[in-house]
Amino acid sequence: MNEPFDIAVIGGGMVGAALALGAARAGFRVALLERAEPALDWPADSHDLRVSALTRASETMLRKLGAWEGMRVCAYERMRVWDARGFGEIAFDAADIGEPNLGHIVENREIVAALWRAITQRPEIEVVIGQEVAALEEDGPTLRLGDGRVLRAQLLVGADGARSRLRELAGIGLSARDYDQHAVVATVRPEAGNRATAWQRFLPAGPLALLPLRDDLFSIVWSTTPAEAAALVEAAPEDFARRLTLASERCCGELALVDPQRAAFPLRLQRATTYVRPGVALVGDAAHVIHPLAGQGVNLGLLDAGALLDVLGDARSRGEPLGALGVLRRYERARKGHNLAVQMTMDAFKHLFSNRNPALYLVRNLGLGLADRIPPLRRQFERIALGQGIELPSLARDESDSCR
Ligand SMILES: Cc1cc2nc3c(=O)[nH]c(=O)nc-3n(C[C@H](O)[C@H](O)[C@H](O)COP(=O)(O)OP(=O)(O)OC[C@H]3O[C@@H](n4cnc5c(N)ncnc54)[C@H](O)[C@@H]3O)c2cc1C
Repeated sequence: MNEPFDIAVIGGGMVGAALALGAARAGFRVALLERAEPALDWPADSHDLRVSALTRASETMLRKLGAWEGMRVCAYERMRVWDARGFGEIAFDAADIGEPNLGHIVENREIVAALWRAITQRPEIEVVIGQEVAALEEDGPTLRLGDGRVLRAQLLVGADGARSRLRELAGIGLSARDYDQHAVVATVRPEAGNRATAWQRFLPAGPLALLPLRDDLFSIVWSTTPAEAAALVEAAPEDFARRLTLASERCCGELALVDPQRAAFPLRLQRATTYVRPGVALVGDAAHVIHPLAGQGVNLGLLDAGALLDVLGDARSRGEPLGALGVLRRYERARKGHNLAVQMTMDAFKHLFSNRNPALYLVRNLGLGLADRIPPLRRQFERIALGQGIELPSLARDESDSCR
């Protein structure tokens, strides 16, 4: 291997692949370790059950990384959120704020494949596929791989997801809580079309999101009790469709499964006690896991990657070692507060909407109604959807639009 590297990224999912690409683009010597060979193509009529709602900031990053063009994306122009047990409702329309859309829904495999296609155009990124990370030695730091190879880098970045091996090897602790909810995902065809609208209905057991997908379909994320989730995954397709149509309040007519495949993911709130150690940094789900009700997880992870790249670029120009704790703390300061604030907001939403207390029922219905009618509150919701209202890393800034 072409050692020592400036940066070794462990995990080539959406966040790690974006980080490795951004680092190579900035002139760093990069290694990227991924456990499983990423899929680069698939049958045209198939759909990934996992999708992400991407903010404008994430779109800008992916554009600058050369991964947006050619990706199959579905813009959503409107959003409607309502409570199953009351009168509260909030609706957004991109046209009202002079935007072409509120964001895009993209299959996760599309994002990963687009990033990996760009990575294969950069032979200077050393890619290691299929090797486990066996041990971490503090000198350097050094990673020992499953096949006995040793990899040295100034900085090791854990982008290896919620069950990060690097986080564990670095001795970084976790604070975690199960939501006692599982999210059921499936691809469905609505009788009345998706109308380029993201719909979210808060049901007593958890939110049901209908996210518009290409070909006039929806990808659904239905958060509910583990028992109901298991029953929904196992139900006959017609029975599932009937229950889903009822749960959606027929907002788009009958909903029918496009293919019988469904899956359920346990939901939890999780955060690493620290994002950094000397020579080690965590990004994306390795650092924080959030309830998917506002579709923010990968957007936050991409902002982590962008912020880390800014800090490392500055450190290089000042002649500082990339793995120095003082350097890495700047990254942590840039991201931890924002990630925590979004995590806590989603946590509060989750509890507010799955609580049967009549006082909270009134609060949330009044709250949705007020948020719909009070312009500054509406603007705050719109900012979250668009990924605005915070100091963005340079890779996420759209220079053609300096007024935002
Ligand atoms: C149902 C559901 C819906 C969601 N919807 C949205 C949404 O709409 N919008 C949004 O922003 N977020 C959403 N999220 C969250 C989002 O999916 C995650 O935040 C995102 O996948 C995190 O990306 P990541 O790259 O950090 O981690 P991951 O996607 O987990 O990728 C980690 C990568 O590391 C690799 N890896 C793991 N261990 C090792 C190892 N030891 N060595 C080498 N490689 C390793 C894995 O193979 C994988 O490729 C949703 C989550 C769920 C559960």
